[in-house]
Amino acid sequence: MAVEQTDPPRHDLVVIGGGPAGMSAALTAGRALLDTVIVNAENPRNAVTTASHGFLTRDGAHPSELLAISKQQLIRYDTVRYVNDSVTGTTKTDDGFEVSLANGELLATTRLIIATGQTDDVSKLNLDGIEHVYGKTVYPCIFCDGFEHRGERLALFGADAVVHYAPMVHMWSRDLAVFTNGDDLPADDKAQLEGRGVAVHTAPVRQLESTDGRLSAIELETGERIERDAGFISADYSTPATTFAEELGATCSANDWGMLAVDASETGATAVTGLYVIGDARTGFGGLIASAAEGAACAAEIAHEIAAHRWGTL
Ligand SMILES: Cc1cc2nc3c(=O)[nH]c(=O)nc-3n(C[C@H](O)[C@H](O)[C@H](O)COP(=O)(O)OP(=O)(O)OC[C@H]3O[C@@H](n4cnc5c(N)ncnc54)[C@H](O)[C@@H]3O)c2cc1C
Repeated sequence: MAVEQTDPPRHDLVVIGGGPAGMSAALTAGRALLDTVIVNAENPRNAVTTASHGFLTRDGAHPSELLAISKQQLIRYDTVRYVNDSVTGTTKTDDGFEVSLANGELLATTRLIIATGQTDDVSKLNLDGIEHVYGKTVYPCIFCDGFEHRGERLALFGADAVVHYAPMVHMWSRDLAVFTNGDDLPADDKAQLEGRGVAVHTAPVRQLESTDGRLSAIELETGERIERDAGFISADYSTPATTFAEELGATCSANDWGMLAVDASETGATAVTGLYVIGDARTGFGGLIASAAEGAACAAEIAHEIAAHRWGTL
C-alpha cells in the first residue's frame, strides 16, 4: 500500500540564525503569538572574543553567555521552537518558503528571516600571525574594544579606508601607527596622517609577534620591528555567511565600508515578498545591540502584516 505523503505544517515565520538579530526577532514574533521556528548553528561572529562590549545590561559578557541567556529566555515561549542545527537550503514556493535542515527536516513557512551574519576570513589580510591575536588584541571595531586599549600603542592595519578610520582610532590613543602591508597610500592621505603624528609604514608585514593572544610587535620585511600593544583593522575581509537570500532572488551590494551585504530596508524587507534579512547579513557590521533592535523591528513589521491579512479575511 502506498504511503500517503503529507505536507509539512506551514509556520508563520522561520528565522535562520540565532545571533542577537535572529533571537530578538524570534522573541518579538513569539510574543506576538506567531508560530515561529528558529534554526541556529550556534556559531556567532564574535565567538573569537573573550568579552562583548556595548550591549547595555550585558557589557563585558562572553559571547557564549549572551547565547545561553537568549536561549533560556526564548524557550519559555511555547510559540517558539528553537532548533540547534544548520539550514542547508531554502526554496521559494507559491505561498512562502521551504527550509531544509541538516537533520533532514523540512520546514514550510509564509515568511522567512535570514539572520545568518557575516563570515570573517582573516587569511585575506595576509598578515602572518593574525590568527593568534584576532579578537584578543587585534579587532575590527573600535567601539567594541577601543576602551580596553585606550592610551596604548595602537596599530591600524589596511590601506583603502585607513584615512577615514584613523581619526576614530586616534580618539582612543594618540600613539598610533598605520601598516598598509605593502600597499601605497595616496600622498595626500599620507601627509594627512603624518601631519597628525601618525607613523605610516608601507613596507610588507613579515609577521605579527604575540604571546598568549597579546600583540607585542609588528615585524616588517625591511627587518624593522615596531612595538604595539593592540590593533584595529581597516580592511574588508568578510562576506555574508550564507547565500540563501541571493538564491531566493535578493540582491547584494557593497556598503560604504566596502563590505558586501544583502540589500534590504531598515526593518529587513527585501525585494522578494515574505523574505527579510537582518543584522550583519544586511549591514555588514552592525554590532550586537543594533542587530538585536533590527530583529525586534523586523518581527514587529511581520506581525503588523499578518494582523492586517488576518483582519482582512474575517
Ligand atoms: C572580533 C569581533 C568582536 C566583536 N565585538 C563586538 C562587541 O564587543 N560589541 C558589539 O556590539 N559587536 C561586536 N562585534 C560585532 C558583532 O559580533 C556582530 O555585529 C553581531 O554578532 C551581529 O549579529 P547577527 O545576529 O547579525 O549575527 P551573528 O551574531 O553572527 O549570528 C549569526 C548566527 O547565524 C548562525 N548561522 C549561520 N549560518 C547558519 C545556517 N546555515 N543555519 C543556521 N544558523 C546559521 C550562526 O551560527 C550564528 O549563530 C564583534 C565582531 C567581531 C568579528
